[in-house]
Amino acid sequence: MISNVCVLGAGRMGSSIVRTLLGYGYPTWVWNRTAAKCGPLAALGATVAPSVADGFRAADVVIINVLDYAASDALLKQDGVASVLAGKAVVQLTSGSPRLAREEARWVEAHGAGYLDGAIMATPDFIGKPETALLYSGSRDVYEAHKPLLFALGGGTSFVGEIPGQASALDTALLTQMWGGLFGALQGMAIAEVEGLSLEMFRSHLSAFKPVVDAALFDLVDRTNARRFAGDDATLASLGAHYSAFQHLLEACEERGLDAGIASRHGYDLSAGAFARAHGR
Ligand code: NAP
Repeated sequence: MISNVCVLGAGRMGSSIVRTLLGYGYPTWVWNRTAAKCGPLAALGATVAPSVADGFRAADVVIINVLDYAASDALLKQDGVASVLAGKAVVQLTSGSPRLAREEARWVEAHGAGYLDGAIMATPDFIGKPETALLYSGSRDVYEAHKPLLFALGGGTSFVGEIPGQASALDTALLTQMWGGLFGALQGMAIAEVEGLSLEMFRSHLSAFKPVVDAALFDLVDRTNARRFAGDDATLASLGAHYSAFQHLLEACEERGLDAGIASRHGYDLSAGAFARAHGR
């Protein structure tokens, strides 16, 4: 049976979700605070819900995708909405912290609906593609019952766990790693430019260096998982070697008056004392 879906939120992401669902043939309702944004979606076949409560009444599955949980709460916790939640599947695709996800799950479930919390690991242009990853946690029953719909939004969809905040936690962990890399790239570009290297050259060497960086990344995760913090026969570069590399990174920044925050912070963490303290040894 194909479900009726209502999407609350027709911003960049919500509109992409609606377009994708329509493309897969799902009868789709849409509501947005600024009603004009629903116009192009109505032209593609979506039904504009006059109110949030009307959207809930029409749908089996309600996908929420607004700016943040405060906006989502304002939609859910209003007169006339709580009373129409019973029996619905609520899929929260608004970004938020694990705590917010847990609290929202409790509130939604207390009103008789199933709750699935999602994290979208993609930009709107990737919604509906086979490789696109969306992470879900919360009700396994909702996930299993609506798998075809969830996979329509991204073929790389997966269920992380039954604790509602787990998808948000994994999203946060992955984004933390990504942002660390992006801040490092900004520092790298500053060093390249101040030393007269083009960013085209920096970019092409990033590609060539990537397999080495990826291998180091996964080695770090595997070693930490196995609590193998000491150097061993499989160690490719010792802590001492990394530490002295950080010293030249630090010098390169200081020589040119660049902010040495990244180099000095990580150099400190790599020093043997800090490493031992971090691991209680
Ligand atoms: P957006 O284009 O700025 O759209 C924001 C949406 O939230 C609009 O529908 C807006 O309604 C609505 N909204 C904001 N405040 C509201 C309020 N107080 N009450 C009701 N509705 C309100 O943002 P977006 O890119 O679609 O992002 C939506 C969610 O997806 C966010 O949680 C974001 O973190 C997440 N996400 C986005 C991306 C991305 O690449 N864009 C990727 C992953 C996750 P109006 O049209 O009336 O302003």
